[in-house]
Amino acid sequence: MSAERILIRNGTVLTVDRELGQLEGADVLVEDGTIREVGFGIEASDAEVVDASNMIVMPGFVDSHRHLWQALIRHIGSDWTHGQYLTGVHLGLSGDFRAEDTYLGNLLGAIEAIDSGITTLLDWSHNIDSPEQGDAAVQALLDSGMRSVFAHGGGATMWQLPSTVPHSRDVLRLQEQYFSTDDQLLTMALALRGPQFSVPEVALEDWKLIQELGTRVTVHNGDGEWGKNRPVAWMHEHGMLSDKVTHVHCCSLAPDEFQMIADSGGSASVSADVEAQMGLGWPATGKLLDVGVRPSLSVDVCVSNGGDMFNAMKATIGIQRALDNAAEKTPGEQSSVRLSCEDVIEFATIEGARTLGLDHKTGSITPGKDADLILLRCDNAAMTPLNNPAAAVVYSGHPGLVDSVMVRGEFLKRDGRLTRTDFDSVRTRATSARDVLFERALARPSTADARTGGSWIPGIHRVPR
Ligand SMILES: [Zn+2]
Repeated sequence: MSAERILIRNGTVLTVDRELGQLEGADVLVEDGTIREVGFGIEASDAEVVDASNMIVMPGFVDSHRHLWQALIRHIGSDWTHGQYLTGVHLGLSGDFRAEDTYLGNLLGAIEAIDSGITTLLDWSHNIDSPEQGDAAVQALLDSGMRSVFAHGGGATMWQLPSTVPHSRDVLRLQEQYFSTDDQLLTMALALRGPQFSVPEVALEDWKLIQELGTRVTVHNGDGEWGKNRPVAWMHEHGMLSDKVTHVHCCSLAPDEFQMIADSGGSASVSADVEAQMGLGWPATGKLLDVGVRPSLSVDVCVSNGGDMFNAMKATIGIQRALDNAAEKTPGEQSSVRLSCEDVIEFATIEGARTLGLDHKTGSITPGKDADLILLRCDNAAMTPLNNPAAAVVYSGHPGLVDSVMVRGEFLKRDGRLTRTDFDSVRTRATSARDVLFERALARPSTADARTGGSWIPGIHRVPR
């Protein structure tokens, strides 16, 4: 059988590979799902040719932390505080999800991500209260066709805070059933509650579970008021820091805690748009860079914020530049730009891949890596003339520009259309599941006032210190 070869011809290629850089009018040859060659005038007469004239070709985005199940209740909390979010969602609607809702939320969220050019996503899945919900979350990721990390984060019963309920051991069953090898598109991690979310004995018990699983760990640390009780220092004291740990948010960590993350080789995920929206503190991009940690980016919460990486990049660069410009300066000192558009594109691609331990497979257009890449249309007023491709992606990019999305050589979107999933059917099912979910919510005292339309503001939840 001859190899399946696809030649992406004559694009503006942002490889995000520092050796290869940015190439104008270049080709990318994909063979059996792998990037075989990047260069000019590649000869491959037997290959299917994709014309990338007037296109930017770049690695697919990597979202290093998102609660995918929440896609079903998107935007209901866009005018809420963090406390109202905890009340309305974690003490409220999360308890109304059934396995079918988890499946549809995950699939809808994954389709949204793919449609907007995200090829890899860590699903920080913290609404799994039954084995059926675990199966449903995994199945949706498998059905989506994207590269993903299923990070089991337990369910509503584990998120009544501060929790005395240990992490569900069903995660071991899921590992055995679905994750026998790392050589598949779907891999796994553990989404750990930080020590600020449970009593110390439970946090230590959860840590033993991680050692049993042997997976990478992703943990919320430094998220607003919750993050001020030195969660990273606590993890450090208990020997829990390593290069397998991703620290999500980091906004309210103490200076020595940033150094602890750097010293342990840990990674970080910045969700700038949500951090600004929910009052988790200033995004920690600059503080992480100060200690030599280049962060990845994440969408986090679609209950309030949009689900694409263009938003995440714009929020990251805008807020960090504002902080840098506003920083106190010595007399006569000028502002300088330390964060470039290329930096932010690296955060959204290769640093995301590193954060998930997948940089040997994805995150850049490098020969030998899997072909996870996207084509962005530039034949429109916002991108013409294309004077600075990286800046055009960061400052003028949006999901409507995403022409094609390829994961390991398979087109999940082509010529502007999703190819793998029947979106009309998912849309119909998700909308009616949403209707039933809110009917169910009305029957429970804690969510008896829940409604769509934008007028529901849940009662304020008191945050324990
Ligand atoms: Zn989160």
